Amino acid sequence: ELKEKKSMEYKAILDMYENMVIVINDCKVVNSNNQFLKFFGINEINELKGKLEVDKLFAESTELYHPTKGKLIDEVNKLNEKKREVVMLDSNGKDHIFSIYTHQINPDKKTNYIIELINISNHKKEKKDLEEKALFDQLTHLYNRHYFEDIIEEKFNDMKKMNTQLSLIMFDIDHFKLINDNYGHQIGDDSLVFLSKLCKANIREEDILCRWGGEEFMIVTFNSLEQTIKIADHLRLMIDNETQRDEKIPHFSCSFGAVSLTQIETIKDAIEEVDKLLYKSKDNGRNIVSY
Ligand code: GH3
Ligand code: MG
Ligand code: MG
Repeated sequence: ELKEKKSMEYKAILDMYENMVIVINDCKVVNSNNQFLKFFGINEINELKGKLEVDKLFAESTELYHPTKGKLIDEVNKLNEKKREVVMLDSNGKDHIFSIYTHQINPDKKTNYIIELINISNHKKEKKDLEEKALFDQLTHLYNRHYFEDIIEEKFNDMKKMNTQLSLIMFDIDHFKLINDNYGHQIGDDSLVFLSKLCKANIREEDILCRWGGEEFMIVTFNSLEQTIKIADHLRLMIDNETQRDEKIPHFSCSFGAVSLTQIETIKDAIEEVDKLLYKSKDNGRNIVSY
């Protein structure tokens, strides 16, 4: 009777945990809490008691840890705490990431452990979302201005060290306010997305296209001024043509400025210069490249 009472207490303690808890002996699962059973869609712990090899619980993963048969405890203890992450598939086959913790039950019994598994999928996703938000513009999925400021600094330093080419293209949609006024904000947004995809698809992989703000964009390119002007003019012509051809997007053009950074002292000067050139294009009738 006492043994039964103890066993109930033991089960109540395990079930109290929000995380999954399993007890293993010789790498076989001998007990667990309800959270564990629920996750795998198991009705009764007796169904698997002593039959389930603990390493079978974890899905193969290229990035995260997966135990070798019979080696879980040794391996986890050797891993850096940050690396103690495993993947498990729930009863619907959906993957979740867990942090894994091991606690030895009896110091004389080297095979008997409690394992705690903490689901960190949501936490991971939130972290990833935040990291992406810090780099990318939410509407166009281009790099944002914050990223531009970091990368231009880095590339500017590289240029000075290695004597390579570095140029900037800045461009801005012509009369974009009219698009919003005439077609609505949604079509305005769609136009920004369309333009972003078009430009992204028509620059080199290594060139860096950013949304600078509103309807203004920057391209960091590793080319001479001559080459950069050609790139800008190619984009200019394509935007003019492709927005005319597409049926979902109103026709519009963009004005451009282009500068080489090789003769320029600071990034601030370069941005002021390219901005001035862009406004020169606006003053001279729009849909042109100034340099
Ligand atoms: P210009 O040829 O001189 O550049 O004229 P413009 O109308 O393009 O320039 P202006 O600065 O007067 O207007 C820019 C407009 O862009 C105003 C603003 O509401 C709109 N805009 C900025 N960001 C967004 C956005 O994310 N979505 C939409 N739909 N509109 C935006
Ligand atoms: Mg504009
Ligand atoms: Mg503008």
